[in-house]
Amino acid sequence: MIKKYEEFEELIKKISKMQHVIAVLHWDMETYMPPRGGDARANQIALLSGMVHEAQQDPRLYDLITELSAADDLSPEQATNVREMKRELDRERKLSKELVVELNRTSVKAHEVWVQAREQANYELFKPWLQKLVDLNLQKIDQIGYEDEPYNALLDEYEPGMKAARVEELFTPLKTTLPSLVQQIVDAPVKPDVSIMTRFYRAEQQESFLKMLMQDMGFDFEAGRMDRAVHPFCTSFTPNDVRITTRYDEHMLGEALLATAHETGHALYEQGLPAAYAGTPMGQAASFGLHESQSLFWEKVVVASRPFWEQYYPRLQAVFKEQLSAVSLDDFYLALNRVQPSFIRVGSDEVTYCLHIVLRFELERALFAKEISVDDLKGLWHEKMETYLGLTVPDDSKGILQDTHWASGLFGYFPSYALGHMYAAQLRLALRQALPDFDANLSAGNLLPIKEWLNENIHQHGMRYRAEELLERISGNRLSVQPYLNYLTEKYHDLYQIEI
Ligand code: ZN
Repeated sequence: MIKKYEEFEELIKKISKMQHVIAVLHWDMETYMPPRGGDARANQIALLSGMVHEAQQDPRLYDLITELSAADDLSPEQATNVREMKRELDRERKLSKELVVELNRTSVKAHEVWVQAREQANYELFKPWLQKLVDLNLQKIDQIGYEDEPYNALLDEYEPGMKAARVEELFTPLKTTLPSLVQQIVDAPVKPDVSIMTRFYRAEQQESFLKMLMQDMGFDFEAGRMDRAVHPFCTSFTPNDVRITTRYDEHMLGEALLATAHETGHALYEQGLPAAYAGTPMGQAASFGLHESQSLFWEKVVVASRPFWEQYYPRLQAVFKEQLSAVSLDDFYLALNRVQPSFIRVGSDEVTYCLHIVLRFELERALFAKEISVDDLKGLWHEKMETYLGLTVPDDSKGILQDTHWASGLFGYFPSYALGHMYAAQLRLALRQALPDFDANLSAGNLLPIKEWLNENIHQHGMRYRAEELLERISGNRLSVQPYLNYLTEKYHDLYQIEI
């Protein structure tokens, strides 16, 4: 079997190399490519995507996977690679070529219409295209097959093994708890001074502070870069070449700061994956939700915490003397953690964020169960915004048209964001147990033990375990929403001086 395993590994590494070439082209497109390069670039990417698709369809590869799936002499790492490639290719192979082509073509066109519709705040314009995407995704669900309910087929792409019923179980306490916490905060006499964040903060100065922070977090600049782009993101070609991007708003200090901490958290996961297994599932993250937990851990649990700023606030004040020398640590910390119900998911605070996700999950799930139609979506969106966040949606661009996901044909993606928050809160408890001087480390600017703990407990395992299984191994408990709710209640009761 060893010979066959080697042949299998060679084939999947070839696919992975082509995918990474595509990723390089995408990275360049988002960062340095001049505007007129677009057409040629789209052709290059289409050519390579075709080659990837062909290599994935290679019958020899699938025969090898079938044989190796029955083998009993593989190492645990080899068995992981076979299991995960089988899972991925089983999905791919079930889809007809016509459907794949149609899905790609329709999402490109739908995305164009969505951009216009969003500018005009006109859902009616986008609705026929959304209907097409939903219909195509219903066909996709039929072809892939599912357990229990149609939505599970979509969810599985982002969270292997996760079911909608389990997501509902995790999300329900968010609906019953968070709206009242938000209300307590809104009613609290403590009001953050937002003007602290909106003074002029020169991009170059922000950048030098952020590079210092990334260094302290353990980002390896010999194995990665940071550049500017319209949207902050992280992409990785090997653990030795991981790129992040960020965007500077010179009148909103928190934006690049939190986004960079976030993307660096993603990057540390990628740099921490086992290099020996690069190009195979053992060298990949376990799920989107777990990936998100790594970025949120650094963004929320570390950088948005008070002990962290005991060390870093004086350093930030040294960079921005004029803007911050008269602002106290407490006032800065409060302004950075301002809670404000808002229409837009992206950039919303950590207390309200998950309510945006619950709303989207409930709509998507009902849509694919055919309990509601795209005609009902807008009305339901408005109802739920009212119930969960107490907000009356003023127009479609601040409502149903705000996200790019549906416009790009991506359904089942949203729950991962909220799961990431839950994973991060549970990891926080486990880490505090493993490193009892966690807060002292933060206030001393000693961030490396955190990175090393995450390397050791999460990153090095690649896809060996399912995300939930890995979390249970680390924390001793099944994933639960309670640590997240406790974390929020404690932090924000304290911050807003809420007494009950
Ligand atoms: Zn993220």
